[in-house]
Amino acid sequence: MLFEDTQTAFVLKSDADLDRAYFLFRLIANAPLVRIGTTVTNFALKSHLPIEGLVRATVFDHFCSGTTAEESLGVVEKLKSQGVASILDYSVEGDKNEIDLDTCLAKTLETFDFSKDNLALPFGVFKPTGMGRFGLYEKISAGKALTSEEQQEWERVEKRYEQLCDRAVALGIRLLIDAEESWIQPAIDTLLEKLMAKYNTDSIVVYNTLQMYRHDRLDYLMVLHNKAQKQGFKIGIKLVRGAYMEKENLRAQQHHYPTPICNSKLQTDQNFDAALDYIFKNIETIALFFGSHNETSAYKIMQLIETKNLDKNHPNIWFGQLYGMSDHISFNLAKAGYQVAKYLPFGPVRDVMPYLIRRAEENTSVVGQTTRELDLISKERKRRKISGN
Ligand SMILES: Cc1cc2nc3c(=O)[nH]c(=O)nc-3n(C[C@H](O)[C@H](O)[C@H](O)COP(=O)(O)OP(=O)(O)OC[C@H]3O[C@@H](n4cnc5c(N)ncnc54)[C@H](O)[C@@H]3O)c2cc1C
Repeated sequence: MLFEDTQTAFVLKSDADLDRAYFLFRLIANAPLVRIGTTVTNFALKSHLPIEGLVRATVFDHFCSGTTAEESLGVVEKLKSQGVASILDYSVEGDKNEIDLDTCLAKTLETFDFSKDNLALPFGVFKPTGMGRFGLYEKISAGKALTSEEQQEWERVEKRYEQLCDRAVALGIRLLIDAEESWIQPAIDTLLEKLMAKYNTDSIVVYNTLQMYRHDRLDYLMVLHNKAQKQGFKIGIKLVRGAYMEKENLRAQQHHYPTPICNSKLQTDQNFDAALDYIFKNIETIALFFGSHNETSAYKIMQLIETKNLDKNHPNIWFGQLYGMSDHISFNLAKAGYQVAKYLPFGPVRDVMPYLIRRAEENTSVVGQTTRELDLISKERKRRKISGN
């Protein structure tokens, strides 16, 4: 099986890197420890205790490519040497005022500029809450009327998205827009539909993200595609399962509405597969960016490519994984000739903490994934010991 080749998977990792990764995933596998670690780290950072060095040497360097985009270019080059592309992801999260939003826009545009003359950076990425206030997206999504001030605020948000699209077009790159909580998504969907109609006519620039743990997103995909067909534009879809399940279920319970989340992992997987089938039936008008660490889904895509007789490097088919996770999928796919990109989160240590905590919690809750990382690292350590390299 393709993903079992650990020599390829860890080709860029020294023995010391592997030891650190093993130690890290062992810690992450321990849920109570992650909870305590998260609380202590948050407290220490808030109290300005000097723990940045410790965070940096452990979780940060494993999951992030640097504190700045420039610093991340070393990782970009290394990945490029193995045929893996990169996506610079300015991962500063949290509530933002207008100045913060403009700073985030400027920083994101700067990351796009690194794509100039660098084929190893074929995508730009941003989070909706990096470009607009959460409460504003929420109000629009709930169908509430905006005050005239809020209307102007929304126009500024739209302008930021347009600037990002214009820069992407100028640089010849594609643009992935992440998905966050479902209760801000309707406003984002409407805005992205407008942008797809404008920018996705000849080539595909704008990608919305569909979280398939939501049982309503397959219908949305079909509705969007029909609309696009009628209006003469194409669509870009980043397909993921979704990262906010607990939060979604909790809110639905607290506000007494049915949860938007599928009622089992199996249902999410079936939903994900159905979306893949639909996309591959329409691959000339829907571009896919597969954002997942699920081996079965990756094999399914390889199968679809083969049965439909498509090129492995078809411009509308990209695989993506996060830096520091599932290298066995990324590197083996790239070696076999598929198009793969790693998300490279970067930013000041304290500012990327929410991202790092999500990764730790995700790896704790997705028990199978952590065990798999540990097994793969063990296998590679053994292989190196026996073969001597
Ligand atoms: C490149 C990339 C980009 C990403 N971008 C985004 C993004 O923009 N927005 C976002 O939300 N996430 C994003 N993610 C994270 C992604 O949504 C998943 O949380 C993560 O990848 C785990 O899912 P999986 O397909 O890799 O693995 P799997 O282990 O197969 O699936 C785990 C996922 O299944 C779902 N699930 C688990 N248990 C249940 C249950 N009981 N009922 C229903 N569903 C269940 C959850 O979504 C869970 O995260 C991204 C991931 C990658 C790799």
